Amino acid sequence: MMEKPSADCTAYEIAENLKEIKDSMAEACIKAGRGPEDVMLLGVTKTVSPQRINAAIAAGLRSIGENRVQELLGKKDELTLAGVDVHLIGHLQTNKVSKIVGQVNMIESIDSFRLASAVNQASKKAGIVTDVLVQVNIGREQAKSGVMEENLEALLAEMGTLGSIKVRGLMTIPPIFDTEREKRAVFARMYKLFIDIRGKKIDNVTIGTMPMDVLSMGMSGDYKEAILEGATIIRIGSALFGKR
Ligand SMILES: *Cc1c(COP(=O)(O)O)cnc(C)c1O
Repeated sequence: MMEKPSADCTAYEIAENLKEIKDSMAEACIKAGRGPEDVMLLGVTKTVSPQRINAAIAAGLRSIGENRVQELLGKKDELTLAGVDVHLIGHLQTNKVSKIVGQVNMIESIDSFRLASAVNQASKKAGIVTDVLVQVNIGREQAKSGVMEENLEALLAEMGTLGSIKVRGLMTIPPIFDTEREKRAVFARMYKLFIDIRGKKIDNVTIGTMPMDVLSMGMSGDYKEAILEGATIIRIGSALFGKR
């Protein structure tokens, strides 16, 4: 797929891109023996204008993800969000937590107990339960946020004491790889971690009989591989809206 500069990406092109992505998703789902409804397409809207986000929603996009609290809150009033899920996917500072809780359907970027506690406290105050994902730094990269895999279980166990958040699953931003084999290998490792941790039945992670069921991984350059390896949310920015 050709990437075009954002400014040139018209409503028509956004609709075409969305259709192409959905077709590729369906193809990857068939290849993986999964149903098309098993994977959610989250349109990543950082730096994208409200007009262009609304064009994607009009074309059928049902979930969006923003990185920054300020940017999201600044654009939100101009978005036609009826029936659209909004996720926060970027690094969250504890001093921004009270602003974002209640404004999104899910926070995908929890990576410390301190942050989880802050979200819990703000949710309690608002009288809501916030769905969250724990972000894992699967590639052990210095510049990236996320908990290291060896610390995941302890963090989840600690988070199990927090009654106003619900851990729905895991999120990761793996290193960028060139080959399909490397892309699949890192997603497969993440999926294995997801399955292993689900098997542990940690409080507040296993919800009644429903275990945590969300695995958010895969972006414009590697979403097909992510679907083949078990992603339930893919986060797509440039393939949908054009180059940032
Ligand atoms: C920007 C971003 C994406 C989307 O990246 P693309 O390569 O443009 O699809 C996905 N997830 C996160 C956390 C991001 O910051």
